[in-house]
Amino acid sequence: MSISVPLNTTLQLSPSSSLSLFFPISSSTAVSVCGIRRRCLRIVTSCVSSAQSSVKNNGAATDSVSVVGRDLIRLGLPSKGRMAEDSLNLLKDCQLSVKQVNPRQYVAQIPQLPNTEVWFQRPKDIVRKLLSGDLDLGIVGLDIVNEFGQGDEDLIIVHDALNFGDCHLSLAIPNYGIFENINSLKALAEMPQWTEERPLRVATGFTYLGPKFMKENGIKHVAFSTADGALEAAPAMGIADAILDLVSSGTTLKENNLKEIEGGVVLESQAALVASRRALTERKGALETVHEILERFEAHLKADGQFTVVANMRGTSAEEVAALVQTQPSLTGLQGPTISPVYCKRDGKVLIEYYAIVICVPKKALYKSVQQLRAVGGSGVLVSPLTYIFDEDTPRWSQLLRNLGL
Ligand code: AMP
Repeated sequence: MSISVPLNTTLQLSPSSSLSLFFPISSSTAVSVCGIRRRCLRIVTSCVSSAQSSVKNNGAATDSVSVVGRDLIRLGLPSKGRMAEDSLNLLKDCQLSVKQVNPRQYVAQIPQLPNTEVWFQRPKDIVRKLLSGDLDLGIVGLDIVNEFGQGDEDLIIVHDALNFGDCHLSLAIPNYGIFENINSLKALAEMPQWTEERPLRVATGFTYLGPKFMKENGIKHVAFSTADGALEAAPAMGIADAILDLVSSGTTLKENNLKEIEGGVVLESQAALVASRRALTERKGALETVHEILERFEAHLKADGQFTVVANMRGTSAEEVAALVQTQPSLTGLQGPTISPVYCKRDGKVLIEYYAIVICVPKKALYKSVQQLRAVGGSGVLVSPLTYIFDEDTPRWSQLLRNLGL
């Protein structure tokens, strides 16, 4: 069932703190409103904190989902904006470039994954289509997964930290007028202004997570209104007292004289790889495909910001060179070093002339590491970025198999 909440609709938390939705419209609408109410009241789990979790959605679309007979696995990607660009870049960096014959087409291919097709969709539609069985995998922000997934158990977060699309969903209030000295959710809730007749008015596009957050925090007398954009203008226009929206740099809030408050963060979000449980368990090839994508993502993200440093060092044995390297604070505690003899031919004899050492260092320790290598006699230092670090096992893969009961 898809639910659209019209503009100016008020979602109100009643004084008893039970969640109810007030629509000034017909009785047929009231039926679906009750449906929403029941669902909201029953959902208490949060799925944003664990590395991989399934989310619960009491009812919604999944009951009728069947894995229809198609051969190709479908991956949903955001169709525009920064998330779209970053998703394509991540795939490209993992040698899974997306080939789109025509930029106006919504379907594309990944030549490295011939059994998979890409569908460009709005983020909320990616989640909806994962639930309806029209997509099998998707890349989308955790904020959208939580808002539109509404805890549905069919949604599995395969990788929760793809390192882009960072933001948080937060409550913000004006930094002037009656809010000037209000700096926490508790203080906001305790303001005498909010009554049943005159609740705290919050403008948000997150009509599931917003009321859920308020209820979980025991905040009474709240009324929500929805809008698709420019929420930051709502308090200055007198339409709302507060907003609940995504914050990235915080600039938009600042420029609209709004501030975040202690305890007001609803969730931390970034891009995630999400899958349909049914697809992974029932669609041929889906599990193998997600394994390949996950392994590439994990290996690439682990290597991100890491460098391989190779240097030559003189010494009488590999052990002596290793001991010398280990005296340096920036070089100790690293895995390795790997040390290999470098041979030369002199007077017809093959001799070890020096040793080549290889270490892996994070970007922020790079220069210090190079200096310390030089300090113990390292020369000819070569630095190259790492593309992948494949571990023996991918922890998220083991977790996924456990989650699927496999
Ligand atoms: P900023 O000024 O960087 O804090 O960005 C805030 C504005 O960008 C708000 O209007 C948000 O709705 C929007 N925004 C921030 N992060 C995201 C995101 N990850 N996805 C979609 N919209 C976002």
